[in-house]
Amino acid sequence: MIPAHSIRSSIKQAFSLIEILLVCVVLVALGAGLSVMLLGHGKPGEKAKTPIDRAKSTVCQSNLTSIRQSIAASQAGDTDGKFPQTLEELKLPKEILSCDVGKEPYIYDPATGTVRCIHPGHENY
Ligand SMILES: [Zn+2]
Repeated sequence: MIPAHSIRSSIKQAFSLIEILLVCVVLVALGAGLSVMLLGHGKPGEKAKTPIDRAKSTVCQSNLTSIRQSIAASQAGDTDGKFPQTLEELKLPKEILSCDVGKEPYIYDPATGTVRCIHPGHENY
């Protein structure tokens, strides 16, 4: 015959083990979620996109928007309605004139007043 207090203590131990396993499962799930968030996920052979990459892409879009507004303002202020000959004429901060992801300088066409990013994936910004 098994004493009653021994049964109670083995039930208590079984509950503790389940609790530990549950905590481990929760920690693994959190770790997996965090690693996907910080390291990114992508198709095989393709560079993973992290939130930092996406943020930098947003900076690139924002830079291009600022440059386009400056070009439009410069053209509106020009007596002949011409576009500025170079981006340097706009007197914008230097860090705005290149892509934040690849650091490539933006391509500017003074004939049409268009500016674009040559970084792969940024062609349509
Ligand atoms: Zn870019």
